[in-house]
Amino acid sequence: MQAILQQAAAAAASPRSRSCRPFLSCGFICTMLSLSISTGRMSVERLGMALSSVWDGGNATWALSERPVLQPAWDYLRQNHESTLRSPLFPVLLSVSTYLLLVLLYTTLDLLAPTWPSIRRFQIHPDHTVTWASIGNTLVLTTYNHLLYIFPAAVAQWLWRPAVPLPREAPSLAAFLFGILGCTVVFDFQYYLWHVLHHRVSWLYSTFHAIHHQYRQPFSLVTQYLSAWELFSVGLWTTVDPVLLQCHCLTGWAFMVFNVWVSAEDHCGYDFPWAMHRLVPFGLWGGVLRHDIHHLHPGTNFAPFFTHWDWLAGTACAPSAKLRENECDENNTKANGRRADKGA
Ligand SMILES: [Zn+2]
Ligand SMILES: [Zn+2]
Repeated sequence: MQAILQQAAAAAASPRSRSCRPFLSCGFICTMLSLSISTGRMSVERLGMALSSVWDGGNATWALSERPVLQPAWDYLRQNHESTLRSPLFPVLLSVSTYLLLVLLYTTLDLLAPTWPSIRRFQIHPDHTVTWASIGNTLVLTTYNHLLYIFPAAVAQWLWRPAVPLPREAPSLAAFLFGILGCTVVFDFQYYLWHVLHHRVSWLYSTFHAIHHQYRQPFSLVTQYLSAWELFSVGLWTTVDPVLLQCHCLTGWAFMVFNVWVSAEDHCGYDFPWAMHRLVPFGLWGGVLRHDIHHLHPGTNFAPFFTHWDWLAGTACAPSAKLRENECDENNTKANGRRADKGA
């Protein structure tokens, strides 16, 4: 391993390697972060250099990904919407409008589902109807949070933060995709820790997280049916993670949209054929089925997106019908037992 690291360090110092630096910092660091934290043996930087060496090995397939595929789209955006993109309000508007659009789509499906069997057959709980009262209740809190916290924070940013400089060059396709992946892995880990803590500590649960568990069979509007503290935490990581990983601003915005999309999908109540857990192989993505189980059995499936942390911690609960009841009950009891041990 030492030899690999030395070779990697030499490779990282080469001019060719430096050209890959945006990709490195943005793409692999996330995975490295998770790995290094889980193994506790290798620093992020050293692991990054090792991976850099492997990456820089002259693989022609990867080189294709380095072509600026996104440059025409980025040029168009810069030339036609520069003032909008540079505004500190833009990320907030992008995030809120994506959420509202998705919620509008899913809520329309919820309202049509009782009379449209073609929609109802994809529902996880076809016997459960989303009522106008639930829609109204969740909308009130969402509006309250946005008016009281999100909007003032956005205005404060607008007033005090200088306009964001836009780089001339678009990210490479590889940097763009791995950047989104990296931010998602880091966010998943951050939320996993937050989530476990807010379930295990009774005061934290009742003060900040219990409100999100008012709905045992979630629907899309439950996604942001959150306390202000949870909303702030989620918003902070979504904003800061692309900066920490030194992503291109286009990558950061794409991550925001992706994050809102998969968070809404986690709560939408539909298991569509294009759901993320069906697209990502090897059961790596938990998605809507596992998060739905979390709302039914709150001692299980704490990670919002991936499954590895719950597997490692023994809190995973598979969505398979057979496993569902036994395994979930067992994990739920274990988790509740731990809470009880801590005086929860
Ligand atoms: Zn939830
Ligand atoms: Zn929870």
